[in-house]
Amino acid sequence: MSEKRLPDAAVKGGNKTFFSLDELITVTVGKEQTKHMIHESILRQCPFFDKCLSSGMREEHEKSINLPDDDPTAIEVIIEWLYAKTIDRLQCGNHYIVAYVAADKYCMRELQNSIIDKLCSTPYGDVTPSFVSSVWNGTAEGSKLRELTLDFLHYCIVTRPELYKPSDGRYYKELQELMHDGDVAYVLMWRLADQRELDLEHPLLKKGCVYHVHEDGSACENGLETA
Ligand SMILES: [Zn+2]
Repeated sequence: MSEKRLPDAAVKGGNKTFFSLDELITVTVGKEQTKHMIHESILRQCPFFDKCLSSGMREEHEKSINLPDDDPTAIEVIIEWLYAKTIDRLQCGNHYIVAYVAADKYCMRELQNSIIDKLCSTPYGDVTPSFVSSVWNGTAEGSKLRELTLDFLHYCIVTRPELYKPSDGRYYKELQELMHDGDVAYVLMWRLADQRELDLEHPLLKKGCVYHVHEDGSACENGLETA
């Protein structure tokens, strides 16, 4: 069992902040039971945690929330987001997947969209078929992260087919494995077969809310309305 306090910036210093009046809630995550001490007002920004801490719930009485099935990195990303509206903890492809899944689970649409924006703004080369497989296996049907990675793979195959060809293609074996991977293989096959779907605009360069989630029909200020 380990214990972490996040982030120091919110609690250190002699000056009183509005955090000073907050209760600290113990959030216990995953099989390792990693513990975080988080200010109640911060947690309540997320509707799910707000409900957990509502009157009458066990969590409110015990000042603790247990998340045994969640990914520790994903919850760290959520905590960083709640405190600072940053997502610097996202460092590798798997972080993006687990954090996106958790943000979706807890209905944190702004965080989901920020994860997508960060993925799109990261210096890129090729998307690997194995990453696309991981995304499809880790997310639910209708996920915008699925859509983005599939569009990206489709774009890469159409524009640089030599990377995916048998014998010497760098991603041939990975693509071969992906084509045995159920839903994603089927969707990709149709995308490649249907010339009406031929879209040569690089998906990471698309402007606006194309891969965002906006349940209320709104859009980001500088973005385009979701179709
Ligand atoms: Zn948007």
